[in-house]
Amino acid sequence: MIPYAKQNISEQDIEAVSRVLRSDFITQGPVVVEFEKAIAQYCDAKYAIAVSSGTAALHLACLALEVGKNDIVWTSPNTFVASANCALYCGAQIDFVDIEPGTYNISIEALEQKLSIARQKGKSPRVVIAVHFSGQSCDMQAIYKLSQEYGFKIIEDAAHALGGEYQNQKIGYCQFSDISIFSLHPAKMITAGEGGLLLTNNKSLIDKATLLRTHGITRDSSLIQGEKHGIWYYQQLELGYNYRITDIQAALGLSQLQRLDEFVSRRRQIAERYNQLLSALPLTIPQQNEACQSSWHLYVIRLQLNKLNKNRKKIFDELRKNNIGVHVHYIPVHTQPFFKNMGFKEQDFPESIAYYQQAITLPMYVDLSDEMVDYIASTLSEILA
Ligand SMILES: *Cc1c(COP(=O)(O)O)cnc(C)c1O
Repeated sequence: MIPYAKQNISEQDIEAVSRVLRSDFITQGPVVVEFEKAIAQYCDAKYAIAVSSGTAALHLACLALEVGKNDIVWTSPNTFVASANCALYCGAQIDFVDIEPGTYNISIEALEQKLSIARQKGKSPRVVIAVHFSGQSCDMQAIYKLSQEYGFKIIEDAAHALGGEYQNQKIGYCQFSDISIFSLHPAKMITAGEGGLLLTNNKSLIDKATLLRTHGITRDSSLIQGEKHGIWYYQQLELGYNYRITDIQAALGLSQLQRLDEFVSRRRQIAERYNQLLSALPLTIPQQNEACQSSWHLYVIRLQLNKLNKNRKKIFDELRKNNIGVHVHYIPVHTQPFFKNMGFKEQDFPESIAYYQQAITLPMYVDLSDEMVDYIASTLSEILA
């Protein structure tokens, strides 16, 4: 089976991990710090910390922005559940904003409308989490403009988008947001096995996230209340977590980062090849906005079902029968039983439902060969004929 996603591990990656295993530090040592510096530099952001997962980074981002019990957080329904759960971990309420039919990212029109209604009801969001679906940035300038008008904070869930660009800046630069996060899961752009990154240009936000990454504990003399008892002394100042990443993981992440630009350019080639081979079929290829250079974490087609005599499930199953490991991203989060129990109805976000019924994710990863792409395209063409 050709998988939908797959990591690329080189001998150099294995060597980097082995070096850490032979060294004195295997958890929070010098490589975590080196990795953090390299990521901040890559994205041109002031501060970056590495944590145990993208989900942990989202949780810390919400905590750093002081999301709490009386707050409301909005995100896109077309995402992985973690984008919504992070707000619930903080005791906040979650709500969604429907997607654009072209990019499958949060709709600015829907956001503006919902903000205006929410303000009248006194139910404005404290934070909007913008998910850069498949690696293409949301319209961040427009979201930022609305944040100025309506007074909310912005987290970029850039789990898909490391290596992507918006307005000729690397995603993660945080020009139009408070915090950006990335995921280092093996399906994502680069991997550390598991891991996440949190980036910001705001010193107090990074300090808060760093404190909460390790139990809310500090050894920093400038933060300690009263006298230090000795050099062993630490204090817990807040209720934090163990969201640390290890040096073993950071070594893999750092080594992978050296090849990120290569990864992105191969993914762009694959996307172009798919675009050419598929453009005449009864489906919609991914629409790209001018301000965006996608990292191409995912390549999603949207079937034009009105021109087809098979449904999505049938087409999906036939692709799988031909050893093509297609997938679907995403089941709209608000339709999950856990969220339905909060009162969400399927048709609350109709664009995300319409998209979901037509979407298929084709295989996309660095080692996918041109021959494989050709095979996938010709098989799909036969199935749709
Ligand atoms: C993968 C993913 C996450 C969670 O990242 P983990 O590292 O798996 O915790 C969050 N948001 C989106 C959009 C993702 O795709």
